[in-house]
Amino acid sequence: MHLQLTEEQDSLRDSVARFLEKASTVDAVREAEPLGWDPRVWAGLALMGVPLLGVSHEHGGSGADLSDLAVVAEVCGARLAPAPVVEAMVAARLLANFPEPAVGVLAVLAEGGPPVAIALHPVVDGQARMVPGAAVSSAIVALDGPDLVLVVHDDLPSSSANLGSAPVADVDLTTGTRVVLASGERAASAHARAVDEWRALTARWFVGLGREAQGLGVQYAKDRTQFDVPVGSFQSVQHRFADLAADLDGADLLAHKAVWTLDVADATAEVFPTMAFWFAGDAAQRAAAWSLHVHGGYGFMEEYDIQLHFRRAKATRLLLGDPRRELQHLAGCLWDDPTTGPIPGSGHRPTVGITVRPDDGRSIDAAPTTAQREGFDFSLGPDVEAFRREVRTFLATHVTDEVIEAAHRTGTVHDRGLHQAMAEAGWISAGWPAEFGGQGRSPLEMNALTEEMYLSGAPVDGLGVASLVAHTLLIDGTDWQKRTIIPEILTGRALCCLGYSEPDAGSDVAACATRAIRDGDEWTINGQKMFTTLAHEARYVFLLTRTNTSVAKHKGLTMFVVPMDRPGISITPVHTMGGERTNITYYDDVTVDDKYRVGEVDGGWQTMMTALVFERNSAWYGELVRLLDHGLGWARSAPSPAGGPMIDDPLVRERLARIAIGNEVSNLLGWRAAWMASEGTLPGVEGTMAKLFTTEHYQFAANELLDALGIDGLTRHGDPGAPADGWIEAIYRHCQVTTIYGGTSEICRGIIAERGLQLPRNR
Ligand SMILES: Cc1cc2nc3c(=O)[nH]c(=O)nc-3n(C[C@H](O)[C@H](O)[C@H](O)COP(=O)(O)OP(=O)(O)OC[C@H]3O[C@@H](n4cnc5c(N)ncnc54)[C@H](O)[C@@H]3O)c2cc1C
Repeated sequence: MHLQLTEEQDSLRDSVARFLEKASTVDAVREAEPLGWDPRVWAGLALMGVPLLGVSHEHGGSGADLSDLAVVAEVCGARLAPAPVVEAMVAARLLANFPEPAVGVLAVLAEGGPPVAIALHPVVDGQARMVPGAAVSSAIVALDGPDLVLVVHDDLPSSSANLGSAPVADVDLTTGTRVVLASGERAASAHARAVDEWRALTARWFVGLGREAQGLGVQYAKDRTQFDVPVGSFQSVQHRFADLAADLDGADLLAHKAVWTLDVADATAEVFPTMAFWFAGDAAQRAAAWSLHVHGGYGFMEEYDIQLHFRRAKATRLLLGDPRRELQHLAGCLWDDPTTGPIPGSGHRPTVGITVRPDDGRSIDAAPTTAQREGFDFSLGPDVEAFRREVRTFLATHVTDEVIEAAHRTGTVHDRGLHQAMAEAGWISAGWPAEFGGQGRSPLEMNALTEEMYLSGAPVDGLGVASLVAHTLLIDGTDWQKRTIIPEILTGRALCCLGYSEPDAGSDVAACATRAIRDGDEWTINGQKMFTTLAHEARYVFLLTRTNTSVAKHKGLTMFVVPMDRPGISITPVHTMGGERTNITYYDDVTVDDKYRVGEVDGGWQTMMTALVFERNSAWYGELVRLLDHGLGWARSAPSPAGGPMIDDPLVRERLARIAIGNEVSNLLGWRAAWMASEGTLPGVEGTMAKLFTTEHYQFAANELLDALGIDGLTRHGDPGAPADGWIEAIYRHCQVTTIYGGTSEICRGIIAERGLQLPRNR
């Protein structure tokens, strides 16, 4: 896995950006309206070889990959370049498949001649509707019945004023000089491939536009003052920006993945361009709309620039028709072909339904791994894949239905037997260096392990908390703690629980009132903690205490790792709507030696921050996959009132497709955090984005699926005849807590807005 551009792509981006900064200024973009065409911009890009960038050397191009074209597309989106660059690059690549009949047109492009357009929709009665770029192109490629045709016109088709000020036009293909490039299956598949390339490149164009629009809004919110403060310090403004920042980052990753799949894996690549086009278009449109709104009345004025982005985002989204039809198309790609296997080269379950599960009767071996590529590369590589296989095999044996049922029945999301078996297999310490008895597994391998655990349905809380405490001890702990407590955790002998929350200190965890008072080498602790999950199983509580009341509240905290068997600790169970059991813990004159203190006296806040990064970076994606699996299982087996299974119902298909896209975005945000960790960075804001997006999407997905079940969804797990064995109803209840613990969504949004987007501090 590698999530960065190559040096060559960086310099390509810089040179196109430098040129467009001068040529595609806002004034130039405005002057190019309403046609959306500036011949100087096109001429400059043609001089740089952009139209034929993706065409082989043999046919006069530069032989670049789609990933290089994507760099250009993104910059064009950011600068609103008034020229049909994406369309022309795609059309040129398509034509290069038919060099003989297309040689003349390719030569014209090579000489800096006018663009070539591609009709995205099949031609009806000789007419191609609203073809992007056609109003300024001398030629058009289109699928007309069984034929892929190239039609050269002497006169340009006329364009009408349109929402996006784009050079779109209806084209009459019964006139002009017409050449048939291919017929039948070859024509259809070449055109479909070109449309997928257009989807993927346009997704990158959306990312460029969306980020630029977001940037305009954020800047305005920093500069504009109301009520004596910058409007960007208002939480209602910050939080929308934060959601959009996560969406745009997800769109960015998804669009890169779409391009990558087209570059490395032609066969089943259509899924990701469709997902990326839908999601990036949606995110860009919403980012532009919110930024416009944040400009208040000024955003509505033509004089302000944000309306340029707003109109283009929406208009470009409509070029393939009603965006909801893209969801139907995606559903077809994902679920209509029972033989569809894993996406070659993706190296992991890309989305549910085309996946590799032992119970599918398919093997993960079916997924070839590509050699590591330069630039963006979403394959995990042979080592991670081999480790993942090993973990999957292990979990298939140990995570039995009984283990899953017991966690559900007791509400304790931990299984001692499984935990011990994991310890014996070396999985708990797998990510640790050999000096701790570990296997030195990379953050990517560890992410694969966690993801596999979630995918298997394993009760994971015990492992998750234990390893976050162990990691925090590794950073902030003493030698004694590293030698004594870390090995206890890593060998499965000790479990931990987190004692942060209190009756009056939840999100504001620094308001902690549990007192620790020092007397020589001993501390005495008094107080009460809320929601101490797993306290009834744990050997240690990672306890936040107040040690100083005469300084600012963040500065008077100290962290301890307190043995749960100390006299004075008592536990009261708390039962929850989602079925999980948590606890209230009381500390009544509990004494501990100073050796149990973690970090500096009064330095508990820093220790807490380190621990929180580990907590938010968990691979939640597996939970989403299981939910969609339940939904798919139901949709394939339940009869629809219209006849056939529910999976044939357009309403159900749309819901499932929308969920599948969010799942993929969540997957990518999680893997990005893991990749950053593998590069030696602690992904604070990025991990928070993954947590925020994933948990919000989890609730969205559960809600959608429960709605789809209708009245049958009321029945619970264990009731005979409950759809999906009642799991969707159970998840619907459970998932409500995921936007609360580990930092509520509001707290996450605040972090993204203030640390990520640098918006002014909230009052
Ligand atoms: C099942 C479960 C298990 C848990 N496990 C643990 C555990 O093991 N250890 C532990 O220490 N804690 C645990 N928690 C506690 C959890 O971390 C807290 O519930 C969470 O931090 C929120 O605190 P609170 O419940 O006091 O809500 P509050 O902080 O009172 O929040 C109430 C509402 O106000 C919003 N809000 C608060 N502050 C702001 C702000 N600055 N801006 C905007 N909105 C704000 C919140 O988002 C929320 O919607 C668990 C909770 C549950 C339900």
